[in-house]
Amino acid sequence: MTALLSTHGLVARYGDFQALYGVDVEVAAGEAVALIGANGAGKSTFLRAVMGLLRVEPDMVRFDGRPIGGTPADRVVREGIAIVPEGRRLFTGMSVEDNLRVAVDQAARMGRSGGWTMARLHQLFPILKEKARVPVQSLSGGQQQMVAIGRALLCQPRVLLCDEISLGLAPKVIREIYAALPEIRAQGAAVVVVEQDVGLARSATDRLYCMLEGRVTLAARSADVTREQIGAAYFGAGHAVA
Ligand code: ATP
Repeated sequence: MTALLSTHGLVARYGDFQALYGVDVEVAAGEAVALIGANGAGKSTFLRAVMGLLRVEPDMVRFDGRPIGGTPADRVVREGIAIVPEGRRLFTGMSVEDNLRVAVDQAARMGRSGGWTMARLHQLFPILKEKARVPVQSLSGGQQQMVAIGRALLCQPRVLLCDEISLGLAPKVIREIYAALPEIRAQGAAVVVVEQDVGLARSATDRLYCMLEGRVTLAARSADVTREQIGAAYFGAGHAVA
């Protein structure tokens, strides 16, 4: 596999607290990869480290063959990696369209071009067209998640990182959001999803990594992995997952 994004012995700390202990992850172009693991396993930390939000060594994160570890977040986005952050972080008080325009303008300033336009996004999530003029905070959680995904896509990423995009949403909405992944990949982007729902993670991705206490405990093809393997990796040996 030729990796588009990879980490090599990735170590990350919050002050004196070490959150990642040598994490190796690879993502190929157009691939969907899940990061699973219990609360506190280090999944969000992994995404933050890739995005340049934590101090890491340059060679610990490679993108398109180049070291990018520790590169400031705005330059990471310029390189072609975008994140749908935990909690969405939308601009409240602004309309749906204005939230999305921020990303369009940002991509233009950065000189990033690609296949994602407002029209294409409206095809992917028609509700965003319907609610274009509506203040973003009046949308449902699922609709806000679509705005957050749209905002990241309009940065024209080659890798899209998604942090718990299903959290707190109804099953029907989760299905709608995950149904967008094939279209996003068809545009050539790789997708990394941090996902608490193991079943969803398995069905929506090509490969998955399980993390436990800052380490990768399982790397497997999503279609091949067994519940027993996931259970052992998730909780440590000897447990099963429901
Ligand atoms: P969750 O599903 O709860 O978000 P996670 O797998 O994403 O879990 P992280 O948020 O990456 O886990 O946290 C990994 C470890 O780092 C945890 O022990 C957490 O308490 C710690 N941690 C996370 N953020 C900080 C921070 N800002 N300062 C100090 N410690 C932190």
